[in-house]
Amino acid sequence: MNRRDAALVVLVLIAALAGFALMLTQTGQGAQVEIAVNGEVYGIYDLDTDQTIEIGEKNICRIENGAAWMEWADCPDQLCVHHSKISRNNETVVCLPNRVTLTILGGEDEGQPDTIVSDASLENSFLPGYGETTSFLSTANK
Ligand SMILES: [Zn+2]
Repeated sequence: MNRRDAALVVLVLIAALAGFALMLTQTGQGAQVEIAVNGEVYGIYDLDTDQTIEIGEKNICRIENGAAWMEWADCPDQLCVHHSKISRNNETVVCLPNRVTLTILGGEDEGQPDTIVSDASLENSFLPGYGETTSFLSTANK
């Protein structure tokens, strides 16, 4: 193994770690999607597991990369299919004609600040002279 190979291995490792970290931040902590038909729970599925769920013969829900959406429906308005992907706590997709709802349980709360992005920007703007970003964070969280 020459030096270039070693550098390549390191790069691949870094990329893998970065991908893993990204995955962790995107999936949240054990979020699930609850599917209900006619107000009754049809099933609860982990957002961590990529899968396709047929809801009767009228709707198909897809879960991928920590988000859920209505992949297909036979309803005339198609509003549920065009709804954006959901991944945050209490977000819902509703198919009114078929009375099907997708609801996120236990995901990250909506409106919560993205701490990872703010951490990065804090370090860029406040690091010179201020090593302790934690003290700033505690005031920012008030
Ligand atoms: Zn629909």
